[in-house]
Amino acid sequence: MNKLPKDPLIQKAYVFAEKSFIGQKRFSGDPVFSHSLAVALLLAEWRLDSTSIVAGLLHDVVEDGGKTIEQIRSQFGDQVGDLVWGVTKIGELKFRGSDEEVFVENLRKMLVVMAKDLRVVLIKLADRYHNMQTLSFLPPEKQFRIAKETLEIYAPMAERLGIGELKGKLEDLAFPYVYPKEHDWVVNLSQDYFQKAEKQISQAKEDLKKEFKKENIKAEVHGRRKHLYSLWRKLLRPEINKDINKIYDLAALRILVDEVRDCYASLGVVHKIWKPVPAIGIRDFIAQPKPNGYRSIHTTVFGKDGRIIEIQIRTFEMHDQAENGVAAHWHYGQQKNTSLSDKKIEQGFFAPDAKLSWVKQLVSWQKEIAGSHEYLEALKFDALKHRIFVFSPKGDVYDLPVDATPIDFAYAVHTSLGDHTAGAKVDGKMVQLNEPLKSGQTVEIIIDKNKKKPSRDWLNFVVTQTAKKEIQKHSKT
Ligand code: MN
Repeated sequence: MNKLPKDPLIQKAYVFAEKSFIGQKRFSGDPVFSHSLAVALLLAEWRLDSTSIVAGLLHDVVEDGGKTIEQIRSQFGDQVGDLVWGVTKIGELKFRGSDEEVFVENLRKMLVVMAKDLRVVLIKLADRYHNMQTLSFLPPEKQFRIAKETLEIYAPMAERLGIGELKGKLEDLAFPYVYPKEHDWVVNLSQDYFQKAEKQISQAKEDLKKEFKKENIKAEVHGRRKHLYSLWRKLLRPEINKDINKIYDLAALRILVDEVRDCYASLGVVHKIWKPVPAIGIRDFIAQPKPNGYRSIHTTVFGKDGRIIEIQIRTFEMHDQAENGVAAHWHYGQQKNTSLSDKKIEQGFFAPDAKLSWVKQLVSWQKEIAGSHEYLEALKFDALKHRIFVFSPKGDVYDLPVDATPIDFAYAVHTSLGDHTAGAKVDGKMVQLNEPLKSGQTVEIIIDKNKKKPSRDWLNFVVTQTAKKEIQKHSKT
């Protein structure tokens, strides 16, 4: 049980999963269980709670281990059961080859399953990451399908969650399978440039370290190499026009410090020895974080020989968040440097607020891909535009047709809630009951217990069948 947290339920899941897969081999020749273990270890590395790690160990036992979801529930509890169910459901959805409508319907289903519990997504991402690492053993058509799905669905998802490192790794793993010729072209084109850039960066690193020492600033300086897939995307931009000489961030520097104030002090040191590039300038994502929570200061300077160097400055904590994403992000929101326990989760790690902000992110992600030609033809997402996602005050997600009103929402939650509706608040403000809802809104229904039946005129504006049927039921009597 190396490196997995010591926990009786994890121990039990380990044995249970290992037994379920006995004798089964992966294409690589490794036992199937090695995959479950790899996924669980990754989740532990991301510092997820033990429930997620248990679910990680068990995530394939229903699909491939001959076990039922009821067995999981009775032996490991409903939380684990829900997570395994969610991951299995997502695994069944096919995005390739299916016609547009099926594709979109499946994407919609996936969003709804994921919106219920963020941990489902993280388990799915860990699962995909390990599968991508072992992709070379699979038959070619499978390789292509899985890699393409990774580029279209999972890498953007990792980005949306603020796990930038994982996004880059997933893309680079998928790149040669989806675009083999383009991949080879970029590799050949960039080889010499990478070498040169890395030499310059390591020189710059030494210069910077000396300066920090002089100024008495405690900082770590690292060189980093641009991901290949993102290099390719950049080369294709019209202003770059495949000219690699126009790309100045092949290799870059990253400065890690303890405190936010050290970030600004480091920025001062950097600009003391190298002048910032005027047109590109400094971007302060600490003062104004990106929507996915990303924080860092970026500056671009002229190095010693006039070559442009890109530098990121961040605290260790921000770095951890960028690398480990949501897990770290929410983790730090609670308490520093302790691992998460199930108890903490009950106490509010997945509190309504946090859950709400996650599902809201999911909605904006959905909007983003719906309007983006980058990852998918927008066409495929047209049908998604006919659905909206709205939330209860607790953060539960409801999937409704466009033009749905608070009354439709109330009936989607529960029949009796619909029948007793007296008013509605959207994002905290009172609205008319016929007001069409928009994706991402939080809807709160105000009830009147004395109200015995719905109003007949609601039929003039409700759009869902459920609402219509229920209102008609009462109108007849
Ligand atoms: Mn799996």
